[in-house]
Amino acid sequence: MTVTARTIVLAARPVGKPKPSDFRMESAPLHDPGPGEVLLQVLWLTLDPYMRGRMSEGPSYAAATELGKSLPTEAVARVLVSMDPGFQVGDVVAVHDLWRDHMIRKGSELRKLDPLAAPVQTALGVMGMPGMTAYTGLKHIGKPKAGETVVVGAASGAVGALVGQIARIGGARAVGLAGGAEKCAYVVNELGFDACIDRNAPDMAAQLAAACPKGVDVYFELTGGAIFDAVLPLLNPFARVPVCGTIATYNATSLPDGPDRTPLLLRSILTKSLTFRGFIVGEFWGDAPEFYKAMAGWLAEGRVKYREDVTDGLDRMVETFIGMLEGRNFGKTLIRVAE
Ligand code: NDP
Repeated sequence: MTVTARTIVLAARPVGKPKPSDFRMESAPLHDPGPGEVLLQVLWLTLDPYMRGRMSEGPSYAAATELGKSLPTEAVARVLVSMDPGFQVGDVVAVHDLWRDHMIRKGSELRKLDPLAAPVQTALGVMGMPGMTAYTGLKHIGKPKAGETVVVGAASGAVGALVGQIARIGGARAVGLAGGAEKCAYVVNELGFDACIDRNAPDMAAQLAAACPKGVDVYFELTGGAIFDAVLPLLNPFARVPVCGTIATYNATSLPDGPDRTPLLLRSILTKSLTFRGFIVGEFWGDAPEFYKAMAGWLAEGRVKYREDVTDGLDRMVETFIGMLEGRNFGKTLIRVAE
């Protein structure tokens, strides 16, 4: 069986906001799978904000994607041909891969999924990397106690939605920020946060202060920017700040205007004994079995809810990525590549 793989590659390094011409679709036939290899058809691909970082050169925790090469993602895929005795035609697997619709991979690189246990695409969201991020960032760094107040931005998104729900399971108050009234209504009414503030409201900082009458004990940093500025004065002594993402700055080409607020930040850290701790979820990958068990239980009990923002077709992956960075997604951003 000769299969042609369509692959999206990086054609140019985006300057500021990515544009469609920064990417290119290529097609190439795949070789037949050899011993130990498996031919896979991609069903789902995930889009995550960290991918913006791979498009730019400069110091980071991972190397930039070379021009002409494809970008990282995680895929859920179906086995079309198997030369590995551990996999049968029709098996569904999760695999770290590229922005493409077919691939040949070694069986040893695949994680088999049970389609009866959960919708397979949840391996890319609530039961996958974003879920792990929320769970481990709270467990190891945020450490919310019952009665404490936890604040998170991008609260209707893949990570933020879970941060607030997990915090509430532990007895904390959860206050979210999200872009617009519809997302905020969902965060409170569906996800059960105690409050959610529209990050675009002119009086956002005042509304946030009113929603946190006892201050903020854990700020799960996903956004940076105006939300960080509003939270900083509200942090209580000994507050913890898992620094997980700063999406407000991912398309920035220079530092923001205005007075240098570094002295304010340092004074706050010192005088309030604050803990800021950055992390990349891979650091805590050893917690995966514990996380899968906990999250599967919460989902089964209806204590954690999630929402997916699904776009059909590899052809629409680039526009969907650009939109996600602008907040156009409402829930975990997924590309359904094939039924
Ligand atoms: P989301 O599903 O939350 O999608 C991104 C959201 O960011 C948008 O929907 C938008 O939500 C919000 N956003 C966009 N621009 C801004 C802005 N200028 N200010 C505030 N919010 C903005 O993404 P994820 O949950 O996948 O990721 C959230 C963050 O977590 C990202 O920063 C990401 O890089 C980080 N992350 C870090 C990991 C790690 O290992 N450290 C692992 C996974 C994620 P809205 O319009 O509703 O505000």
